[in-house]
Amino acid sequence: MDKPLNNSTDNVLNQGSPHKKRKIDPLSEVDPYDDVYYKSYIPGRHNKLDSLVRLRRASDEKEAQISKLNGIIMTLKTQRSNIECENYNLEDELIEVKQQLKTIQDQIEELAYHEQQSLSEIDTKYDITVKEMKLQNDEEIQKYTDDITSKIESIITEVQKSNMKLRDELVQECDDLRSKIKSQVLELEQGKSGIREDSQKRLITLENNLDEKIQTTNKDIIDVIEKITDQKKTNEILTKKKEAVFSETVVLETSLSKLMDKFKGKEDEITVLKNKITDLETQIKQSEENIVTKSKQTETRKQLIKNQFQILQDSEIERRHLHNKVQTLKGNVRVYCRIRPPPLNITAGQLISLEYPENLEGGQSVKVAKDSSSYEFSFDKVFTPSSKNPEIFEELAQLVQSSLDGYNVCVFAYGQTGSGKTWTMSHPEDGMIPLTIEKIFQDIEELKKSNWEYTVEGQCIEIYNDNIVDLMATSQQKYEIKHDDINGRTRISNLTSAKLESSQDALDMFAKSSIKRSTASTNSNERSSRSHSIFILNISGYNSKSGTKCEGCLNLIDLAGSERLNNSQVKGDRLKETQHINKSLSSLGDVIYSLSQNGAHIPYRNSKLTYLLKHSLGGDSKTLMFVNISPSLQNFGESLNSFRFATKVNNTKQGRR
Ligand code: ADP
Ligand code: MG
Repeated sequence: MDKPLNNSTDNVLNQGSPHKKRKIDPLSEVDPYDDVYYKSYIPGRHNKLDSLVRLRRASDEKEAQISKLNGIIMTLKTQRSNIECENYNLEDELIEVKQQLKTIQDQIEELAYHEQQSLSEIDTKYDITVKEMKLQNDEEIQKYTDDITSKIESIITEVQKSNMKLRDELVQECDDLRSKIKSQVLELEQGKSGIREDSQKRLITLENNLDEKIQTTNKDIIDVIEKITDQKKTNEILTKKKEAVFSETVVLETSLSKLMDKFKGKEDEITVLKNKITDLETQIKQSEENIVTKSKQTETRKQLIKNQFQILQDSEIERRHLHNKVQTLKGNVRVYCRIRPPPLNITAGQLISLEYPENLEGGQSVKVAKDSSSYEFSFDKVFTPSSKNPEIFEELAQLVQSSLDGYNVCVFAYGQTGSGKTWTMSHPEDGMIPLTIEKIFQDIEELKKSNWEYTVEGQCIEIYNDNIVDLMATSQQKYEIKHDDINGRTRISNLTSAKLESSQDALDMFAKSSIKRSTASTNSNERSSRSHSIFILNISGYNSKSGTKCEGCLNLIDLAGSERLNNSQVKGDRLKETQHINKSLSSLGDVIYSLSQNGAHIPYRNSKLTYLLKHSLGGDSKTLMFVNISPSLQNFGESLNSFRFATKVNNTKQGRR
């Protein structure tokens, strides 16, 4: 573009130079610009008229030429003003283009600013929650921005450059043109020809060049606009992308906040659970400490219990030992005298006189008198008519305890018929047998605390005419007494034996036996008075802690009436009965007596009664005899006999002391 312009300019300039080519008007004979001609003419040697004509013609011609040239100058002036006008227009256009460029630049800057602002806004918003995304986006955006900025900058620079160049060129050209016009005007003024054509040519060329340049500029502007449009599109895509990312981020933020809420809730739950765990751990620790303390305490207590148990065991042994010692000191054979209250239909005069003098030996005495004779008897205890069964049982209770400790015990009620033996032994409410039963089972229950387990077996028999009768059996069998001399145990073969689990069992059994006895009465004779009835309790104990065993046998005996009948008046069965009773009662007295005589033969075999009670009389066994006395004067003789029998037994005991 530049080169042809320069060349053309050169051509124009070369063509326009008066020094290189001078064109002479063919109509003129003289060169009007030739000074030599004028100088030569004026001094003249030719005809003056001709000279004037020629001068006139020449003057006319010159005037014509001048007016012609004036016309040309006028035309050139008009052309010059037109070119100037165009030049102004071009300058205006250039300013407009510059303004457009400025607007585009502003738009670009605004876009860049908005972009930057929105980016920073988005960046700020996403900063915390989507750091990674932001970084990515930042990088992308930065890259895009850099690219775009650099592109725009390069475009702007390019456009600016080209515009500047164009402007410079245009200015240069205008300057050139002005100078050329000036020179041309000068030339024209100097009357040179051909200027018009040259100017026209030059103007046309200039116009063409300008058109070309404007077109090129327009093209460039279109390019820039296209690029800006592209950039706008790219920005739109970017904005859409951003929006998508934003909405995604919103969704992510929502779910994140939900998750955060959940997480918070879970954290709270965890905190509560942790606190609970801490509490529980503390509790467990405390419990463990408590357990340790408790187990230590338990260990101490166990040891204490063990010690106490040992003490208890020892004291139990000691107690049994002492109890036995006391019982032994009291006498293994004890005789208690019981005088029953007088019958209601009897008067004072029909009663024997009774006194209870002081007994210096620790026992008790009773003094009976009839007429001028008086007798004094001493016993371990004397129960007056006012004494009640429970009071009497107090004395017996100690022996019941001995039977639980493994000793054999015999309790007899001796006396004539009607003296109160059955009342004493078998009264259903407070007889010795019911009270003994109650006490045994009470004591068994109590001893369970000291690890004692007891079994009680009951048997009820009668010895009638020296024969054993099983009161619990429906039909009688042959009964044989078997002794285990080593263990001091006695067993009767075929005898009904009942295991008694409770006092009620024992009481029921005893009640049954009593009924059996009373229904067996014959004629006017009371069978019960003619036989010995024995309630046997075999008591076995086992201590699970100490492994100690004990076996005792308690015999509660309601003896047959001790009254002596006049043999001459008694015959048949009654005689036989009487003989058996007498024999067995005297045997009992003899056995007890013999026991006191060291090394003496003990006549157990003399009667069924003594033979049966072999291991319950003598040795460690305890014997208690109630001597029942009737206060009737009528029974004085029998009472005296009873006193004497009892005294014999009592003396036996005294002799053993
Ligand atoms: P035994 O059995 O010695 O033949 P009992 O015990 O049957 O004598 O007594 C004969 C009578 O005397 C009975 O009617 C009884 O009620 C009465 N009896 C005996 N002892 C007492 C007493 N301690 N208190 C009241 N009455 C008694
Ligand atoms: Mg009786």
